[in-house]
Amino acid sequence: MATPTPMMRQYLEIKSQYPDAILFFRLGDFYEMFLDDAVTAARILDITLTSRNKNSDDEVPLCGVPYHSAQPYIAKLVASGHKVAVCEQVEDPKSVKGIVKRDVVRVVTPGMVLESDMLTPDENNFLMVLAHCDSAYGVAIVDISTGEFRVTSVESPADLGREIDGNQPREIVLCECDEEVLRDQLAGHFQERMVNVLPEWVFEGEDAQQRLYRFFQCDSLDAFGCQQLPAAICAAGAALYYVEETQKNTVEHIRTLKTYHVQDFMVLDEATRRNLELTATLIDGKRQGSLLGALDRTVTAMGGRKLRQWINQPLIDCQAIVQRHELVSELVDAPLLRDELGQCLDDVYDLERLSARISMASANAKDLVALRHSLEQLPAIIAQASELQSTMGTTLAGEIDPLDDVLRLISASIADNPPFVLREGGLIRDGYHEELDELRLISREGKSWIIGLEKKEREQTGINTLKVRFNKVFGYYIDVPKTQISKVPESYERKQTLANSERYFTPELKEYEDKVLGAEERLVALEYELFQQIRSQVAAQGARIQQTAEALAQLDVMVCFAAVAHERNYVQPVMDQGTALTIEEGRHPVIESMNLGERFIPNDVQLDTETDQLLIITGPNMAGKSTFMRQVALITLMAQVGSLVPAKSAHIGVVDRIFTRVGASDNLARGQSTFMVEMSETANILNHATSRSLIILDEIGRGTSTFDGVSIAWAVAEYLHDNDQVAAKTLFATHYHELTDLALTRERIANFNIAVREWNDQIVFLRKIVAGGASHSYGIQVARLAGLPDAVIGRAKEVLANLEGGEFSTQGEPRLARSRQQPHQVKSPQMSLFNADDDPVRQQLQKVDVNTLSPLEALNLLDELKKLL
Ligand code: ADP
Repeated sequence: MATPTPMMRQYLEIKSQYPDAILFFRLGDFYEMFLDDAVTAARILDITLTSRNKNSDDEVPLCGVPYHSAQPYIAKLVASGHKVAVCEQVEDPKSVKGIVKRDVVRVVTPGMVLESDMLTPDENNFLMVLAHCDSAYGVAIVDISTGEFRVTSVESPADLGREIDGNQPREIVLCECDEEVLRDQLAGHFQERMVNVLPEWVFEGEDAQQRLYRFFQCDSLDAFGCQQLPAAICAAGAALYYVEETQKNTVEHIRTLKTYHVQDFMVLDEATRRNLELTATLIDGKRQGSLLGALDRTVTAMGGRKLRQWINQPLIDCQAIVQRHELVSELVDAPLLRDELGQCLDDVYDLERLSARISMASANAKDLVALRHSLEQLPAIIAQASELQSTMGTTLAGEIDPLDDVLRLISASIADNPPFVLREGGLIRDGYHEELDELRLISREGKSWIIGLEKKEREQTGINTLKVRFNKVFGYYIDVPKTQISKVPESYERKQTLANSERYFTPELKEYEDKVLGAEERLVALEYELFQQIRSQVAAQGARIQQTAEALAQLDVMVCFAAVAHERNYVQPVMDQGTALTIEEGRHPVIESMNLGERFIPNDVQLDTETDQLLIITGPNMAGKSTFMRQVALITLMAQVGSLVPAKSAHIGVVDRIFTRVGASDNLARGQSTFMVEMSETANILNHATSRSLIILDEIGRGTSTFDGVSIAWAVAEYLHDNDQVAAKTLFATHYHELTDLALTRERIANFNIAVREWNDQIVFLRKIVAGGASHSYGIQVARLAGLPDAVIGRAKEVLANLEGGEFSTQGEPRLARSRQQPHQVKSPQMSLFNADDDPVRQQLQKVDVNTLSPLEALNLLDELKKLL
């Protein structure tokens, strides 16, 4: 640019402070964007790109949006991954000469959103800040739209990944010094999120702590439980910095900081969350078809968010779990109470977000009316909740504050149906404020005098077509058609001439006009002033509103669990710290609820770390292996979330972690092959499972050759059984029938299969799990069901017969060293170690007691065995 104008200089100066944001620069009634910002915004917003100083050296690209309808434009830019810095005129243009002072008043980013049209009602909008301090990592989570602020300290980047998956933040902030490492380690977790980098000093421990002290006006973080967690303090302090930098406004609704510990919740890896389809389906990422979709009957936005959080953070504290179950059961047994509570909750608006907007002074009068409607439900909800006897029920009932003072204030002051805008009056109720009532009276009387004037003037002048009207520019006037001008009396003074009429005023009319307009101007200003006062009075009670919102959210989830449990015949599981997991007639919560035409067949399971630790599950494709295993995992998880479960009875020893390795999950986006992903997920399980974990393994070893696959699957099963550290309850579905041999030598391994019946060369799926290994793969029959042409099916049968007979065929089809159909009867060099009873190596080995063998003896033994081969 040649020599920028003073205004452009101001623009460039402000823009230089917000290089990574699109600057909305207020010019009169518009927000203007210039230069690169204009080019980007015009494209995304689909608005016209023009320019200042067209066709000259210093042409400046420019586009703009009207200030009063800027919101949707800001929303669109943020949704497309941009930050928007909103720059206002902070002086009254009338009162200054030259350039008006301008300042950025807010930066809107995906994680820093308050407006309801940019938020999803039943989802939190989290900002997550990651910090690295010594050997620990701090995680701070803020939802500015609700005031939630949580923090924790974890040990590794993998833990950070889990926190990201569990909380699904819209935006992540990290320190520039950790950027390289974290981007490398958490690449997949950063996808599709805005990631911002802040300078190192923002994360500096002492500063971060002082910032927290100042913000919460305290001199210790003991009350928040994080005084001893330096990494958590760094993250929380940096989060506050970011909030203050972007909001430039009070954020009083962030009232407290909660420290949580990941070890208080069931650990769920990303693979497990995805595979179990907790909040979104694997195929299309939709909520319908997920566990959340099946369970969500919450009626408030707060309840919806709470349910999502709970599903993502199942408990491991047995007592807390049982307390949830007891309340749900109590509500199942009290249908009337449940329905009444549900109906009242249904009329409660989003108290958390309303309260946040009220505190941030961005709430309008309609928000206060919504708050009033919600508060009106509280007496009934409290009365109903007070009937609850369970521990959690009585606690929740006690936490709901009736907030009658707030209700009285809003009822007495705010009009029933106020407008959205705050500066045009109509906000405050008659009778609330004396001066306001007087002004209204003046305005009303003046107006009725003016209305009466038309009749009076028509009579006096004899002009029947005379009208008294008002417009914003000229105020009140008397309108007389041109044809009647001759009858206009002397006392009329001309105000405006139009094509067909003349407009006049009289001194009397002017006097009333001044009265009315003066009163209205004062009225609107006074109403706005009063509204602000009332809003801050309500804001002062924000902590009570938030506490009530929290209790209502939990109550909503409990009523939802009870409604689902009642409708689908769920049962309260028996929970303890034991090692067993016994489910009688369990069903899959999602498939059952989708009602796909086929009646859902229930199945039992009995797992126990001490006795039935690892179940090998065989059966043809489509028999129902995955469904069965997922159902066991989901029932366990639901129980620990606090829901009742789809079963006739269930006894569940609390599980610390659920692992799943299911199907060919595709992580190609991260540059790993399917087999590599499968193996790294398996490695993760073997390295982290404990005897309190539950493991679901579906078809491991598939992505490689059959022998490699069998060997890996075999060794994994053995390891899970033999290694005391990882002896976790495991369901292991496999196509490798060879694995059923494990049960012969491993006492806590048992075989099960999903029964099918053969009928006329067809198979009928019985969907029942029964003891023993499957005898047949039925691959060809399943292929027929899938619609493979008859010719292919027929030929496949021929090939199979030849393979099983071990004959060479004239058609040249392949010969396998080992048939997949009858694995135990066909010898193969690779498998002989496991199944040839007369094998000398095996006989020798069976005699050995490994526990008493010294290393030297072991070496000698190995030498002997080698000679036997
Ligand atoms: P597999 O893992 O053995 O290939 P799946 O678990 O994918 O089989 O099940 C195949 C289909 O059978 C699923 O679409 C499911 O709807 C249905 N199914 C599975 N188990 C049952 C059951 N117990 N009752 C009714 N339908 C079932």
